[in-house]
Amino acid sequence: MRRTLLRLLATAALALATAGVGTVTVVAPAQAAYGAVKWPATGTITSKVDDRCPGYDNHDGYDIAGNYRSVVSAAYSGTVSYIGWDPGGYGNYVIISHVNGWSSLYAHLDGYVSRMRVGEYFARNDGIGYMGYTGGVSPPGIGGTHLHFEMLRYNTPQVWNSAGSCYQNVTRTNSIPFDFAGLN
Ligand SMILES: [Zn+2]
Repeated sequence: MRRTLLRLLATAALALATAGVGTVTVVAPAQAAYGAVKWPATGTITSKVDDRCPGYDNHDGYDIAGNYRSVVSAAYSGTVSYIGWDPGGYGNYVIISHVNGWSSLYAHLDGYVSRMRVGEYFARNDGIGYMGYTGGVSPPGIGGTHLHFEMLRYNTPQVWNSAGSCYQNVTRTNSIPFDFAGLN
């Protein structure tokens, strides 16, 4: 329902822009956003939003289990807004801010690329850091190596569970099959 409405609104905005009404910024149809966001790591989906594959859990993102020190990249272009350390939770984590209220969060990182700093711009698919097991992971240690990845809008984690299934393998830089409305 909500997606249909968004698509209608986007279509209407495009129609207005095409007609030259007012000073409407040309907005691509919401459909164009499908697949614009890329998987930030290569590995296996071991958890989704509120879903421990299977079973409910209070979990705000996807977990992608992969190789220790494998590259983690920006899912979408943006500017680093926060670099954090949360020893009992996220470990080393970073937030990248995108357009239209969106941001993405990458946690349990082993470390960052050398140019990582607040305010730095990363293009989609640029490496930002390395997969690790910092913070609270299960099992603890290298066996718990995974990326915890959230997509947030206005700082609220979004639910986008139709994009992947439990234990599915995903490949870094491949499109996430989901329409994050506003990210084109
Ligand atoms: Zn997680």
